Amino acid sequence: MQAPLSLLFAADSTLGKLVKYLRLAGFDTLLDARPPDAARLNMLAAPHRIILTRSVRVKKTIGDAQVIFIRANDPSDQMLQVFTELHLQFKDLHPLTRCALCNRLLTAVPKDKAQGRVPDYTWQQHCLFKECPECKRIYWQGTHAKRWMMRVREKISH
Ligand SMILES: [Zn+2]
Repeated sequence: MQAPLSLLFAADSTLGKLVKYLRLAGFDTLLDARPPDAARLNMLAAPHRIILTRSVRVKKTIGDAQVIFIRANDPSDQMLQVFTELHLQFKDLHPLTRCALCNRLLTAVPKDKAQGRVPDYTWQQHCLFKECPECKRIYWQGTHAKRWMMRVREKISH
């Protein structure tokens, strides 16, 4: 399997939440918005994205492409399956680098420029803010993100 940094994904439309999680972990991940279709997923994944699907039909139809058939229902468990199958470790994750909605790389925002764009309490408590160049959403290393990362670390580090 490829080195973790070069991992790219293309997921079918039933995996919207997993796609967001993978982007939050820093992975370049495309979502096919229409009902699962092997030919279209193959095109989306070309030349070297790993296809993520919950469709047995898609899995059977897809030829030589790398594909992970997702079994779990819960998005956290789905992500752990991906990490386990690809032997990813906690150090391979790059949280707070990519927009969960647009898949675009985030850019740093100086603290004074973030004022008024995030809740006051958040602004006071944090120093590092990032912005999506596409949707302008502001990201920060919040409590939720920290808890989520700890949970991932617990599950994949053994
Ligand atoms: Zn965005």
